[in-house]
Amino acid sequence: MTNGKPANLPDQIRHYINGEFVDSIDGDTFDVLNPVTNEAYIKASSGKVADIDAAVAAAKEAFDNGPWPHMLPRERSRVLHKIADVVETRQQELAEMETWDSGLPISQTLGQARRAAENFRFFADLIVAQHDNAFKVPGRQINYVNRKPIGVAGLITPWNTPFMLESWKLGPALATGNTVVLKPAEFTPLSAGLWPGIFEEAGLPAGVFNMVHGYGEEGYAGDSLVKHPDVPLISFTGESSTGQLISANAAPYLKGLSMELGGKSPAVVFEDADLEAAIDATIFGVFSLNGERCTAGSRIIVQRSIYDEFVERYAAQAANVKVGMPNDPKTEVGALVHPEHFDKVWSYVQIGKEEARLVAGGDRPEEFPEGNFLQPTVFADVSPDARIFQEEIFGPVVAITPFDTDEEALELANNTDYGLAAYIWTNDLQRSHNFAQKVDAGMVWLNSNNVRDLRTPFGGVKASGLGQEGGYRSIDFYTDQQAVHINLGEVHN
Ligand code: NAD
Repeated sequence: MTNGKPANLPDQIRHYINGEFVDSIDGDTFDVLNPVTNEAYIKASSGKVADIDAAVAAAKEAFDNGPWPHMLPRERSRVLHKIADVVETRQQELAEMETWDSGLPISQTLGQARRAAENFRFFADLIVAQHDNAFKVPGRQINYVNRKPIGVAGLITPWNTPFMLESWKLGPALATGNTVVLKPAEFTPLSAGLWPGIFEEAGLPAGVFNMVHGYGEEGYAGDSLVKHPDVPLISFTGESSTGQLISANAAPYLKGLSMELGGKSPAVVFEDADLEAAIDATIFGVFSLNGERCTAGSRIIVQRSIYDEFVERYAAQAANVKVGMPNDPKTEVGALVHPEHFDKVWSYVQIGKEEARLVAGGDRPEEFPEGNFLQPTVFADVSPDARIFQEEIFGPVVAITPFDTDEEALELANNTDYGLAAYIWTNDLQRSHNFAQKVDAGMVWLNSNNVRDLRTPFGGVKASGLGQEGGYRSIDFYTDQQAVHINLGEVHN
């Protein structure tokens, strides 16, 4: 079986500044690896301070003197709908690139490409319907809100579902009239290289979208974007520790920050739950997208009366999850993104073997001894202070723990630094809502899994994030709300 190298790979992945693909000013590049073989298959330009300076200058010029921020919402909306059309038309090509670059199964990258199109469509519609408040003091004053784009938005994204997550920030940032500099993740720059062509086809003016590839550390693209004085806001998705560093580095500039960070989300299964539905959903919740999913329900907390049956059925089902070549439409778990990441996940599997009872997986699959393939791995009887219960693994590895009472379930669910998502499986209405009120999570799913209307806010609490995006929260993040006060007659003090 081939591993599906896309036919139309560019010769190199380059930055895109002011409507043109460009090399790094110092000519530096880095290798991008294919996760199936770990071979370096292409070079990408490695951005530094000077490349970010050029990208920000282009974005600032487009903001200060270009048409984009001043266009009527319905004019910008038309461009965004066209972007969505182009993404839909090119979804197969996008999914193939993404699968090749990230190791995610093709059936799932196709879904992610369609979701990316929806993100643009959603914000295209939202800005046309957008209205703001006016406050009247009869006979004296009218006060109204003048909503304005902020300027150059710095967007920094991770390697998991890269194209979709980039669209999640690009959609609202552009819809509201900002210009942007995107810094895609260094593990997965390939699909981002399609944005320029998509935007050009849709008629986005040059300079509105700019992109610099490369690393995040000091002196490289990510850090330079965070510290650039002409970038008033940063939307970041990535690890909690990186989020902390970025917050500290941005603090002297008092930038607007949105931090979508890591997770270790609980899935709580009560004894009255529909067991089959709960098992199906919790399998999907942790093994889809290779388990490289911020909202993965990677701690399953199960009521003791059904615990043994749950563990047995769950382990059997996990062992049947199909690990395979990422480009095989039947594959459910592909190859983890990068050898560095594989090593991290692998080390947690070894830690888990010391800390808990291995009931499924725990090894490389026999058919795929090379590359970054890992069997779906399930640990049972995991103690709440175990590292595999507390720390984000970000791979196809799950920890199962029993509980007796509702109070104990809540304590276990909240017993982590993170607070991104929680999943609750019960047919008791009161119990489910009570639990939702008390669980430390930015998002709660009751008897469901990761299905989300784009109007709802998205984000975490505790170490999982700061601020939220999604729906109107994105519109608020990417705009300033200026308050204008009009005196209708006499001056009142
Ligand atoms: P990461 O923090 O290592 O990197 C994310 C991005 O930040 C990359 O583009 C990287 O180059 C850049 N970066 C690194 N250091 C930087 C610095 N000092 N300044 C500026 N930029 C810097 O994260 P990752 O490993 O790419 O992604 C996985 C993490 O992302 C997981 O923790 C996952 O839970 C989280 N995530 C969260 C959400 C969410 O919505 N909450 C969604 C997806 C992923």
